[in-house]
Amino acid sequence: MAPKRSDAEVDIALIGGGIMSATLAVLLSELDPTARIHLYERLSDPAQESSDPWRNAGTGHAALCELNYTPQAPDGTVDITKAVGVNQQFRASRELWAYLSRAGILPEESTYLQPVPHMTLVEGADGVEYLRARYAALSEHPNFAGMEFTEDPDTIREWAPLLMEGRPANATVAATRAEEGTDVNFGALTKALLDAAKARGVVVHTATHVRHVKRRGEHWRLALRDGSWTSIGEPRTVKAKFVFVGAGGGALRLLQTSGIPEIKGYGGFPIAGQFLRLEDPAIVKRHNAKVYGRAEVGAPPMSVPHLDTRVVDGRTALLFGPFAGFSVKFLAFGSVFDALRTIRPGNIVPMLSVARDNLGLVQYLIKELLATPGAKLRTLRKMFPGAQREGWSIITAGQRVQIIKPDPEKGGTLEFGTEVITSSDGSIAGLLGASPGASTAAYAMARVVARCFGEEHPEWLTRLSEIMPSLDLGAGVTPRATDPAKPGGPV
Ligand SMILES: Cc1cc2nc3c(=O)[nH]c(=O)nc-3n(C[C@H](O)[C@H](O)[C@H](O)COP(=O)(O)OP(=O)(O)OC[C@H]3O[C@@H](n4cnc5c(N)ncnc54)[C@H](O)[C@@H]3O)c2cc1C
Repeated sequence: MAPKRSDAEVDIALIGGGIMSATLAVLLSELDPTARIHLYERLSDPAQESSDPWRNAGTGHAALCELNYTPQAPDGTVDITKAVGVNQQFRASRELWAYLSRAGILPEESTYLQPVPHMTLVEGADGVEYLRARYAALSEHPNFAGMEFTEDPDTIREWAPLLMEGRPANATVAATRAEEGTDVNFGALTKALLDAAKARGVVVHTATHVRHVKRRGEHWRLALRDGSWTSIGEPRTVKAKFVFVGAGGGALRLLQTSGIPEIKGYGGFPIAGQFLRLEDPAIVKRHNAKVYGRAEVGAPPMSVPHLDTRVVDGRTALLFGPFAGFSVKFLAFGSVFDALRTIRPGNIVPMLSVARDNLGLVQYLIKELLATPGAKLRTLRKMFPGAQREGWSIITAGQRVQIIKPDPEKGGTLEFGTEVITSSDGSIAGLLGASPGASTAAYAMARVVARCFGEEHPEWLTRLSEIMPSLDLGAGVTPRATDPAKPGGPV
């Protein structure tokens, strides 16, 4: 057995090879070219979990089509605040990617992003009334000026014929369309960002599992397990001045091992997912849109059904879903003990409170879990009435771990957004939650930079704003803020 290699030293350790750590690797290597940055990924390749192109829907979330960003008040008015925020955050991501492409650091945009119109389709009088009010509110804002609205079935048929084929002629329907919508291959983008980071000296270790993170004086000490076939199981440690935990579903447990008080009381609620995928070219070529509908009553916001054009590695397909379900794993390549391993005395009350207060959600997930292929086809037909079973296959989506947060009044609450947890000294940060996700990676990681490095390096924030003029870091990012940030609402 090889001797234990101990305590190599780096400046910055990034845990996880998904879109978040990849984005942070690029930002930090841009801001401090001399920093020794090392990234550790437990699988043999990066972007195999939620950032894999078939584990997410690839929607460039800009609030052009997702109704949950525009809630309606009882008086009928539609609040667009969240939608404007998410749109602005996606703009910041596009600006970062465009900057890197112009500098020759990222490949051409067409290798990871395609223009695909974003549509919303609603049925029934109340749905039409809501969509009309939403359109009226959004179209006054310059970011949404290009949006179109119609109640005319023929116009919808022209925009997306599959939505109308087989739908009763007298159906009350309405739709919006935004031609500036996008489909993003976040897997290809993650890999391209990591290649860019490597070219700048960032060291990427794959097949390297971070077992825990512990404070050792001025440093953090990461215990690593090597999973490569040449040195399988070999233990080693590394010391880092700053740690970012971008481990997706693995982030909660790693943050817990750090012992920082900011993570106390947090728990995770795993939601599994599946999509239907169709690759039949005759049907695929008749649909060019991402079409979002309305969530079922009682359904969590991330389970809004949508029929998507997907472009992955030069091939176009249709994706429909997601279908939610319950799983005790926190990662797609995780373990059935993942949930158990995150139970701590401090998060039992929040978890029990969430179970008590969200029985409707639990019932919904069980119903979805038990849904037969026939039931899934019926759901698909609400969006694409003429759909036939042939050609559709079921694929496993990424695992989401929703945040359970301590709440002094209720005991605990379930959050559908994303939170950046930062230690009070700014030496460790991590990202919990899954939505609005990869689209807002640039914004979320710029917030990490602001909170953990902004005090020592105010010039870094100026540089980030030059690269991303749409970046609005907002309130609460005074460096070393202890309150967790929430970059936007649920998908
Ligand atoms: C069903 C679904 C649909 C979605 N649709 C969209 C969408 O349409 N648009 C959008 O913008 N976002 C979407 N998202 C969200 C988006 O996919 C995620 O927010 C994003 O991919 C998260 O990136 P990440 O880097 O945080 O995590 P991940 O991509 O999950 O990466 C985490 C990495 O950490 C590694 N890791 C875990 N534990 C350890 C450890 N102990 N040591 C070392 N490495 C470790 C994992 O192997 C993994 O590679 C969707 C998510 C899901 C689940």
